[in-house]
Amino acid sequence: MQRTEEGQTVRLADYRRTDFVLRGVDMTLKLFEGRTEVLTRLSLERRPGAPANAALELDGDELILESIAVDGAILEPGRYDATPESLSVTGLPETGPFELAIETRIAPEDNTKLMGLYRSNGIWCTQCEAEGFRRITYFLDRPDVLAPYRVRIEADRAAAPVLLSNGNPVESGDLGDGRHFAVWDDPFNKPSYLFAVVAGDLDALRDTFLTMSGRTVELGIYTEKGRARQAAYAMDALKRSMAWDERRFGREYDLDVFNVVAIADFNMGAMENKGLNVFNHKYVLLDPDIATDADYAGVETVIAHEYFHNWTGNRITCRDWFQLCLKEGLTVYRDQEFSADERERTVQRIGSVRRLKAHQFPEDQGPLQHPVRPGEYREINNFYTATVYDKGAEVVRMIATLLGEADFRKGMDLYFERHDGEAATIEDFVACFEQAGAVDLSQFALWYAQAGTPTLTVTEAWDPQERRHTVRLRQSLAPGAARTGTEPMVLPIRFGLVGGNGEERRAEGRVAGGARLDGDLIVLDGREATVTFAGLSDRPYLSVLRDFSAPVTLEHDQAEADRLALARLDRNLFNRWRALDDLLSGGLTRAARRPLGDTAPSLDGAVVDALLASAGDEELDPAFRGQVLTLPGEAEIARQLGEGVDPDRVHAVVEDARAVIGRKGLSTFARLAAAEGSDVPFTPDAASAGRRALANAALAYLAAARNDPAEVAARYRSAGNMTDRIAALAILGHRFPQSDASEEALADFYRRYETDELVLDKWFALQATAPFHDALAAVERLAGHPRFTMRNPNRVRALVGSFAASNQVAFHRPDGAGYRFVAEKLVALDRINPQIAARIATTFRAWRSFEAGRRAKLEETLRQIAETKGLSKDLGDIVDRSLK
Ligand code: ZN
Repeated sequence: MQRTEEGQTVRLADYRRTDFVLRGVDMTLKLFEGRTEVLTRLSLERRPGAPANAALELDGDELILESIAVDGAILEPGRYDATPESLSVTGLPETGPFELAIETRIAPEDNTKLMGLYRSNGIWCTQCEAEGFRRITYFLDRPDVLAPYRVRIEADRAAAPVLLSNGNPVESGDLGDGRHFAVWDDPFNKPSYLFAVVAGDLDALRDTFLTMSGRTVELGIYTEKGRARQAAYAMDALKRSMAWDERRFGREYDLDVFNVVAIADFNMGAMENKGLNVFNHKYVLLDPDIATDADYAGVETVIAHEYFHNWTGNRITCRDWFQLCLKEGLTVYRDQEFSADERERTVQRIGSVRRLKAHQFPEDQGPLQHPVRPGEYREINNFYTATVYDKGAEVVRMIATLLGEADFRKGMDLYFERHDGEAATIEDFVACFEQAGAVDLSQFALWYAQAGTPTLTVTEAWDPQERRHTVRLRQSLAPGAARTGTEPMVLPIRFGLVGGNGEERRAEGRVAGGARLDGDLIVLDGREATVTFAGLSDRPYLSVLRDFSAPVTLEHDQAEADRLALARLDRNLFNRWRALDDLLSGGLTRAARRPLGDTAPSLDGAVVDALLASAGDEELDPAFRGQVLTLPGEAEIARQLGEGVDPDRVHAVVEDARAVIGRKGLSTFARLAAAEGSDVPFTPDAASAGRRALANAALAYLAAARNDPAEVAARYRSAGNMTDRIAALAILGHRFPQSDASEEALADFYRRYETDELVLDKWFALQATAPFHDALAAVERLAGHPRFTMRNPNRVRALVGSFAASNQVAFHRPDGAGYRFVAEKLVALDRINPQIAARIATTFRAWRSFEAGRRAKLEETLRQIAETKGLSKDLGDIVDRSLK
């Protein structure tokens, strides 16, 4: 059954410009309780060369038209055709400018989709990307229609003393009757998806930033009443982001004000509206008692990301939504570089690669596969994906690797210079680097067009007679759901030859086949190549794909002894971590393949020893050692298994490994767990966070080894900050479910934090991810908890989303009850907020990789969702593609 007709598919190949050019937008929004009146004046002109009789076709979504006029004259009904989804106007001037005035009436109070203008805790706010502006007024709602905006907001002064929009404030005043107004002017051409309005009774944290050319920018972070001081770290991150973009990319901020607003009900992380970023309050509000180190890092990243969009996204935007990675992949690359510079590069890289493998690889290897630049979509909101964002960032990183720092910067400069003020394409972007680096990137551009994770196969041969080491490299790309090409791509492969004392060996390399050698980089652009290194005194260890220099699946038939040596010796710390990670996931996947009842240990003694040696090595950064102790997740093991997955088996194997490591490292873990006591005052810097991560990882191993909740409960009670408190609570709730210690701590946590929505989300999520079958009963109970609501995306994600995405054991209960629970919630959620429903539904996509019983139940559940009457385009698209 195909609910969505072919006609609704939008294709990149069908792109064409609008017949009308937009010169300016003048809007008045009159906010009242229960209704908002919107008057929009568009300055338009027929594009030279466009058909003289072409109608003006505007987009709408659930709109009611109140009136329409051209150059001040109300239009007769025959001149236009209005539906909630469109407005078509005929008989418009063949040449010259004209003004179209449209009045619409909307009800932000009833807007549960949280797209367009809506109310959150009484605050009026907007979310327009991708196609939310059309829920406010009829418009040419597409990113290649750019104009300056002037926006007047009118509201009740008591309900909304603060009135904000894009650009600079130009006027404000009283209207009598308790009402007032403000006018904002944004001189920069922008597409409608960057429009924003916020009105409400808000507190603000204020600061200023002096730009590199000496202009003072007024900064404001707006929060709900009484919470402005919790925006201090966000403000600090904002100022560091502004300084970094000047230093690293020469990019200066361009308006007189920059405002951020924290909103409780928000579909995504945050939104880069010009001069008025709107944020999920989760990425603004922090203090040590309510937020973890991960939350601090998240705020820093998202603040930076949205700020960096001012140049990569706003000053240069996307021609159409197929080019989404032009702004998102590039901006993720920029925020990752910022975090690498502000924190610790290797640790950040490990985090990004884990994330890529956890989210992007499964997407690229399953039915929802699509290229970094998709060729078609039915619902664009379903393409804000790990592929567009994270693989998109990897593609930019590969350009930087291929060109080198100086030429990459030259290419970026050229991009800003050439396309400032435009709506650009991937071709425009790539052309800048071709020119800056004097290189041909046409084959490289396949990274944007071909979906799937390439496999890089590496084999080695040492010739003791000739003292030569030969490395053979091959690449392949399996055809996938997206049905894109499988041509060889350009793979930048960073490598080193490591000697017996960890020294970097230098050797003359000779290439045969489809590659070139450039210092420590092999650029493989053919299906295969060999590189021979001569003049070596003895066999080196090959450290390949350093820093994960290309987003590929590496199949390197390296001996365990070599990996163990690299885990100890490699000067490239990323690869030192990866050597261990490969040993761990290799061991765990092998163990998970063995039949049930096979009691052979999951990990070799030598691997455990290597892990413990790194974890206990005081010379190494604690954050790095914390990463070393973080085993590959159960979902990652499942992905590597690829088929016939039994999540209970995977869980048992990982648990066994944890206990084995814990028992063997008891003394190390006792020392590490004690090192970071509750007397250490909390500071959010990366070094302190790293020490806490290491201590809490050690605590988890101790608990696995000793199986004693008492010491964890003591740790919970004495915790001096949220990071330590939630770490102890997670161990209690996940390892000792339903024990008195765990029940008491969960109840205590609720009492302590019940007034804080963000902390309550942690309480819901922690219980939703407890890895045992009965967790489903707890989750069902929590779905009926007075504090659970489908209206708040964070709350739904905390309970339903994290259950489906991060509880491999209970979601995948063999009886299918976990699937039924999630399906039922999704169908209900779909009527309220289809975007969130669709996002959570992607957790079903790997259904083909499970053992027969679960696979059948997953498929049946997906079909039931697909057959639901009145399903949204969002959810329908995900389930249909998942089943294809
Ligand atoms: Zn973004």
